[in-house]
Amino acid sequence: MAAGEPQADCLFCKILAGDIPATVVYENKDVLAFRDINPQAPVHILVIPRLHYANVGELGSAEPELTGKLLAAAAEIANAEDIVEPGYRIVFNTGAGAGQTVFHVHAHLLGGRGMQWPPG
Ligand code: 5GP
Ligand code: ZN
Repeated sequence: MAAGEPQADCLFCKILAGDIPATVVYENKDVLAFRDINPQAPVHILVIPRLHYANVGELGSAEPELTGKLLAAAAEIANAEDIVEPGYRIVFNTGAGAGQTVFHVHAHLLGGRGMQWPPG
């Protein structure tokens, strides 16, 4: 398997291919962003690279420029969704023990309500 290649059994690769529908809010040649099917905040958007990497550690190591583009897209979406004030959160669950259930790296962009710290 070449790094970044689509995976047949990956839910988010299927969304990228258009095989599973999603409510897309932003896309460019590098990333796709769509609303989470089970939102945990008034704004809950998943931002994913078009290349398949399992998690942000693998993406960040292999594709630093793409990682930056993903974060730039998240910032642009936060502006468009009007959640920059009072603030928003970007989460990368990494590994099953941290709550990751889909192993195609995704940033959770959460906003539109107050946030607690520490997270659960
Ligand atoms: P994780 O638990 O891996 O950090 O996040 C996976 C996210 O994907 C969850 O928040 C879950 O609600 C979301 N999700 C799972 N299946 C689908 C789907 O088919 N469509 C969309 N839009 N989101 C999904
Ligand atoms: Zn994938």
